[in-house]
Amino acid sequence: MSFPTYRGSMQYVCLGCGATYGISELHYTCPTCGGVFVLRDQNFDQLKKTTAQEWRNIFDARAASKIPALRGIFRFYELMAPVLEQEDILYLGEGNTPLVDSPPALRAELGLKTVYKNDGQNPSASFKDRGMACAFSFLKSLIRTQGWTEVLAICASTGDTSASAALYASYVGGAVKSAVILPAGKVTPQQLAQPLGSGAVVLEVPGVFDDCMKVVEHLADNYRVALLNSKNAWRILGQESYAFEVAQWYDWDMRGACVFVPIGNAGNITAIMGGFLKLHALGIIETLPRVFGVQSHHADPVFRYYAAEAGRREYKPVEVTASVAQAAMIGNPVSFPRVRHFAEQYEAISGPGSFQVLQVTEQQIMDSMIQANRHGHIACTQGGECLAGAKRALELGLVSASETLVLDATAHHLKFIGFQEMYFTNSFPAEFGVTPRPELANRPELIITQADKDRLPAKDYVVQAAGNVVARLGLAKK
Ligand SMILES: *Cc1c(COP(=O)(O)O)cnc(C)c1O
Ligand SMILES: [Zn+2]
Repeated sequence: MSFPTYRGSMQYVCLGCGATYGISELHYTCPTCGGVFVLRDQNFDQLKKTTAQEWRNIFDARAASKIPALRGIFRFYELMAPVLEQEDILYLGEGNTPLVDSPPALRAELGLKTVYKNDGQNPSASFKDRGMACAFSFLKSLIRTQGWTEVLAICASTGDTSASAALYASYVGGAVKSAVILPAGKVTPQQLAQPLGSGAVVLEVPGVFDDCMKVVEHLADNYRVALLNSKNAWRILGQESYAFEVAQWYDWDMRGACVFVPIGNAGNITAIMGGFLKLHALGIIETLPRVFGVQSHHADPVFRYYAAEAGRREYKPVEVTASVAQAAMIGNPVSFPRVRHFAEQYEAISGPGSFQVLQVTEQQIMDSMIQANRHGHIACTQGGECLAGAKRALELGLVSASETLVLDATAHHLKFIGFQEMYFTNSFPAEFGVTPRPELANRPELIITQADKDRLPAKDYVVQAAGNVVARLGLAKK
């Protein structure tokens, strides 16, 4: 197997005014109207000369490739950024994350056929790596072709973006310097540890994510910086790989599939819709899976927009309040225009109801995350949000037990462990509005005291400790 020979001709297309721009410069928002961009391959129709079955065979064969550049998200090279050369492509083990069926006990509890796609099994433990692998590969190609000697990779972040950006920046090194801007005190210790560990300059700003974003945008407008927030359209492109992988796992047959995605800045859900639409345009999938966005009632601008009837919809940013789905706690999503763009295309093909947004409570998110993880999943709070969304969809009669519900566990469970701790110790600040269910609590129990250890001879101490374990668990002798 060799590296693909097809090359596209990509351009930035503004979703506000339709203006197009070349890719030899970094663009984030339209200089004419301030709109956001999508990247479009003007040669895309050439891909239709290859039949759908041939494409399926090509992508399936690449699953076994030993070429690192084709091992991860660029297995689907022609559909993503077919302007990159093999030497530009980064591979840190991102993508190809497992789809794990919920065990029978959980499916019985739910009355639903749920499957988690564990995007927390990416190198920095969130799906953000899909986008960063693409954005940094493109940055490498710019450095190579434009002869740049220095560029600052920078992002504002609720945590996972900076962890991922710092990881990829430190891997590339050389001309790439890296800094992240975080809301002081608003990211988890794990998320702060990651950019620090990767050697990024970590700068804190009082306030929330939206405050950090304003600082970073000012920098991007006035200095040579690579902005790695989701305004960066290359990231969205890399994140389309999630959709390609889901379709491939089910042998390119998406009948009866529903995909649940948490919405924060709305980059991920638009990437996923965009990815399925590309597969559909080439006939690689014949049916689009239904897509359900999920938002917390504490940060739900996209839900509110779609809750109104078509024709009466009006987009308004919302004031967010504390959310356990911290990575999705965004009141004014950057990619909202992309949602509208792809949702329209989606509905034009699959009709009303093929894209919907659900609202869930903080309580439901926490209960669902813990329920999932007590059945062998490794869902983060946003993964819990997806399960809560699936239950809500069932309640509203939108899904049935015969469908396959793919839930996006966008990060690893361990990244958001502080919320589990609050749940188990009943210590949520009032603003979250979460009351733990006692039957889901779990605490370590001291089985024998230090005083007993000091007092008893070593052998007796072991027998005593073991005896206490037997008593606690009601073990029968063999
Ligand atoms: C970034 C992030 C989200 C939100 O994704 P958007 O693309 O901003 O909608 C959800 N979950 C996790 C774990 C994230 O890191
Ligand atoms: Zn424009």
